[in-house]
Amino acid sequence: MITKDELEHYLYDADEEQLEALYSEAREKTIKVYGKNIYIRGLIEFTNYCKNDCLYCGIRRSNSSLKRYRLEQSDIIDCANEGYELGYRTFVLQGGEDLSFSDQDICDIVYNIKSLHNDVAVTLSIGEKEKTTYKAYFDAGADRYLLRHETADEEHYAKLHPEEMSLTNRKRCLYDLRDIGFQVGCGFMVGSPYQNPDTLYQDLCFIDELKPHMVGIGPFISHKDTPFKDEANGTLKSTRILIALLRLMNPRLLIPATTSLATIAPNGRELGILSGANVVMPNLSPVRFRELYALYDGKVCMGEEAAQCINCIRERISDIGYEVIVDRGDYKA
Ligand code: SF4
Repeated sequence: MITKDELEHYLYDADEEQLEALYSEAREKTIKVYGKNIYIRGLIEFTNYCKNDCLYCGIRRSNSSLKRYRLEQSDIIDCANEGYELGYRTFVLQGGEDLSFSDQDICDIVYNIKSLHNDVAVTLSIGEKEKTTYKAYFDAGADRYLLRHETADEEHYAKLHPEEMSLTNRKRCLYDLRDIGFQVGCGFMVGSPYQNPDTLYQDLCFIDELKPHMVGIGPFISHKDTPFKDEANGTLKSTRILIALLRLMNPRLLIPATTSLATIAPNGRELGILSGANVVMPNLSPVRFRELYALYDGKVCMGEEAAQCINCIRERISDIGYEVIVDRGDYKA
């Protein structure tokens, strides 16, 4: 585990040479475990309805200017089938906390995808649920669950979320998911409003304690229809530093180079990989709905069809000496 002084050093004092050395060390650690292989996850954003009102999120329930959509089960299966043909062996079903999808609906979707393609992993990213619900998803065949904790500091959490949400419940969910046997991903935004070195250090301590299989971090990017619309965005530099430090903390972690990183810098995904990330999550959602799943402003890769998108990413990754592979991309224990 790194110290708080080390974290502050890299964030504020380190010069370019020291940062390059950090990124290089992180790269080496990744290569030792995963080689120069990059795992792809096909992201299917199946609903932008959400019962919650997180202050940073573009699809929060009180954003009345957003047109809402939800995919039919058959559309979701079509996305997965198309993704399978393109070489995806993991699908991430992501959505707001949309109560129109019953637990049974989610179980059916998971079960149907796994029945059609028995060599894929299904990841769910649909928010906070009771343990019994998580268990039902797992029994239906779900392999992984992503639930960003957003911040491990109580006070900070309260500034990013409405009163009815709590860090205690978020952590309870993550521990329940681990207990059940999911590969679990947590994560946070770098540069979110009110974040400081203390809160960031608590994030790292929490990750060290939870021992997740995946950690998703990307820069905070404001959304025009949220209370944080005028807040400054997170930076490429801080995000790269945090990716590298996470990699040093656990060389086996699955760490995505996120779309938000590609949004704040044209070569953000590549620089994420060169700082220790080893996963990318291209979009498989139907193009006509992508604009409506805007968690933040300016999101890239909104117009490309799935095939175009994966070809572009394959090329870009090969240009930096890495290779996108056809694989479920499980955590290497
Ligand atoms: S961050 Fe997630 S839970 Fe919160 S409003 Fe957005 S989609 Fe809903």
